[in-house]
Order: sequence, then structure tokens, then C-alpha cells
Amino acid sequence: MSSNDYLVFGQPLIARDEIDEVVDSMQKAWLGTGPKAAAFEKAVATYKTNPGSPAPYAVGLNSCTAGLHLSCLALGLEPGDEVITTAMTFCATVNAIIHAGATPVLADVDPATFNIDPADVARKITPRTKALLPVHFAGRPCDMDALMALAKKHRLRVIEDCAHAIETLYKGRAAGTIGDCGALSFYSTKNIVTGEGGMVLTGDEAIAARIKMLALHGMSLDAWKRFSDDGYKHYDVAEVGFKYNMMDIQAAIGLRQIEKIGPYWERRLAVWNRYQDAFAGLPLTLPAPLEDTAATGSKHALHLYTILIDPARTGGVDRDAFLIHLHRLGIGTGVHYRAIPTHSAYRKRFGWEPADWPVAHRIGEQTVSLPLSAKLTDADVDRVVAGVKSLIR
Ligand SMILES: *Cc1c(COP(=O)(O)O)cnc(C)c1O
Repeated sequence: MSSNDYLVFGQPLIARDEIDEVVDSMQKAWLGTGPKAAAFEKAVATYKTNPGSPAPYAVGLNSCTAGLHLSCLALGLEPGDEVITTAMTFCATVNAIIHAGATPVLADVDPATFNIDPADVARKITPRTKALLPVHFAGRPCDMDALMALAKKHRLRVIEDCAHAIETLYKGRAAGTIGDCGALSFYSTKNIVTGEGGMVLTGDEAIAARIKMLALHGMSLDAWKRFSDDGYKHYDVAEVGFKYNMMDIQAAIGLRQIEKIGPYWERRLAVWNRYQDAFAGLPLTLPAPLEDTAATGSKHALHLYTILIDPARTGGVDRDAFLIHLHRLGIGTGVHYRAIPTHSAYRKRFGWEPADWPVAHRIGEQTVSLPLSAKLTDADVDRVVAGVKSLIR
């Protein structure tokens, strides 16, 4: 097998139009933040507008991690404040809380959805709790009614980690517009990509302005006009900020990607359904069925297709043996995720023991993500199905 045959996990679909749009930025020599970044913010805000509501404010950034970090800061989190998030997420979610000076508190997850369990959130609320940071895992919406009710009762801020959830709807409302802020990712493996990139959505104009300012060194918003040809303007450094702005080269890719968000989702749905049918009789735990969007208004963004490998059911094959087997067959897989408290940095810092989050810990030991990108051909999907069936019967 040549290395060209290796099925790289999560590879994005890049077409001529994305390439041409990047070349256009290069030819105009407008590489940094400029008109394309503004146009991409507008396109995403339009896509995320709920029926009958104004468009959210959208601030383009260089990552979702930056978006989570700045959301924590702009919402006024301070040292000593606790933020409750999920034990089943990417490290960036927890790191953003820590970098904002706050203390992460982990809640366990629902065994069927892998989403944060509102009952465990309720148990972990203390007088120091200031915010909730749910993650719409794999693109399946969290139980936002329960989380928003807790937030209202205890006067908490809510930041939605929408890294998997660009297309996600919860009861007809776009993920990222339900809490105070929502952070999206356009990292290379996500549903639509800009290479590296992220965006924050918020309904609050002042929060959007603060995030925008913090993303560019804390310089007064007039400084953004440095990037236009209106002539020189002095700026004031009003806060000590960061360097998190989105480049036009990134936005160029995103502008062409978001036009294809519908067909990409449809393609992933076809792959998802093919996997669900092919694996139905196998001793694996498959993702919970999708909700009927027409009936409930909720929509899964289909970012990850995860299965659980329990050696007690597979005749001794464990997750790591499974992913090594697929790797040898030239199929790249992912692990989303080993539970947060398994990582040494957090164990040292917070004294966390994985066994205290039993559901997340078990998922973290058993989960594997199969390829699910719009780039997959039918032949690629057949290869994945055959690969899985060659080990699990
Ligand atoms: C990818 C991801 C992030 C970070 O996104 P970046 O754009 O790479 O910073 C945060 N949270 C979750 C759940 C993710 O999957």
C-alpha cells in the first residue's frame, strides 16, 4: 500500500473555488484582517440567525480556543470563579477556563449522548460557580433547556463550545445563540474549515466589542481601521489584550466553504447512515439515533461518528487494538476523547481521579471515531466498513 492510499482522518474537502479565493487574496496582497474576514463574519452570522431574531454579533478569530478564552474574559470571569464544563471534551475547553484565571469544575456526561449531564451540573454548583461551559459533543445538541434553567436559577453565564456544532439546532435555535456566547472552530478537521480559525457569536453588542478589542492587543476598536485605507489613525491600548484576529487568507477559504455547508452535511449523513446499517448487528455500541428534525427542531451536526469497543463484548478486542488494526489497514481513526481527568497536567494541578467521572472515563477508554468527512468516497466508506468487520464480527 502506498502512503497515498492512507485514509487520513478528518481530511477536509478543498476545491478549486477555495484555492482561487486564497490566490485572489494573495494577488491583492491583502493577507491580514480585512474585507474577507468581515464578509466571513457576516456569512456565519447570517447562517446562525434564528427565525424572527436579529443576526448575532460575530467576531472572527484565529481559533475556537481563542474564542473560549476571550468569552470567559469578556463575561467577567475572575480568579476564584468556578466554571462547570464536561469531562468529555478536548483539552482546549478546559485550558481556556484556566488561562482566563478561573477554575474548571468537571461534570460527568450522559452515557447515550456523551453530552454534559445537567443533573451532575446541578450537584457541582457552589457559591463560587459563575458560568457553565457545555460542549455540543460530536454536534448533538446539549439539553439546553435544563442548562439554561440552572443558569437562570443560579445567575450563571453560559458559553457554548460549538467546535463540533456549526449546523447544530436545539429546538429550532442555532447552537451558539442560546447562551451568552458561542465559540465555533474552523480547524482543518471541523465541519467547515479555514485551516486554523474560530469565531465567537453573541447577542450582546458590548460583549462582541470587548472580544474584538481583546483579540487585537486590547487596542481601541478604531485600531481595526488600521487595516483599511481611510488614512492614519492613532489608537489607544485600552486593555492588555491578545493577538487572536482572523486573517483574510483564512476567511477566503471559509467564505467558499460555508456555501457548501448543506451538501457537506448531506454527504456526512449518507456516510453516517451507511455505518449505522453496516454495523447494526455487531457487538459494538453505535451512536444514539438521530432526532427527527422536522418533529423536534433539533439537528445533529454530524461532526464525529463514534463507536464504543467494549472488550467484554468483542471477545477481548479493546479500543487500542482496534485502532492499531485499522491503522495497519491504512485507515486513520480518532479518539474523542480520553476523559479530561486522565491527563497528567490536570491531575497534578487539581488532584482529579478519572474514576470520579465514571461515564466519561469509560467512554474515554472505549471510544473511537471513524472517518466522517465530506471528502470520503463510497469506496473509502466500503473500506472502513470492511476494516471494522475484519476484526469485529
Ligand atoms: C477543536 C476543538 C476545540 C478547539 O478548536 P480550535 O479552533 O482548534 O482552537 C475546542 N473544543 C472542542 C470540543 C474541539 O473539538
